[in-house]
Amino acid sequence: MIRSRRGQMLMLFQSYTYYKRSRTRQGWRWDCSTHNSKDCRAKIYTNEENDITEITGNHTHEPPKFHITSKVQPIQLTNGRMLLMLNGYTFWCARKLKDRQRWVCSSSSGRKCRVVIYVTNQYQLLHISNEHLHEPPIYVQTEQGFYVKA
Ligand SMILES: [Zn+2]
Ligand SMILES: [Zn+2]
Repeated sequence: MIRSRRGQMLMLFQSYTYYKRSRTRQGWRWDCSTHNSKDCRAKIYTNEENDITEITGNHTHEPPKFHITSKVQPIQLTNGRMLLMLNGYTFWCARKLKDRQRWVCSSSSGRKCRVVIYVTNQYQLLHISNEHLHEPPIYVQTEQGFYVKA
């Protein structure tokens, strides 16, 4: 289970993520949460304890290796460290100011990378400067919702 920033629960199952769509008699219906594949009808059903009881439909796309989101998303690594993820790139917190925070690209393979983002304390993107000089790092999620660099 993963809790997204808005508190929405996501279910990670066989590398695919699902969001809680609606209640059923026995529990919940979850739909595939990959929004860029609108044709995907894959769903799972769970009971109240979030145990999977039924799987229907096939995914029309590859599983997401990591969440590419155009929104700033805080992620927690298995070592407890917090990063922000934006478009698949990750950032370390460089400085916390009163009403905004400065985060810099955390990719060690891109030491020369100077991408800096400013976000509000609610992680709303305010400003991004420069372009990455490297591919985004690949992170995968553990079942507990933590992230590990692949
Ligand atoms: Zn799908
Ligand atoms: Zn970078």
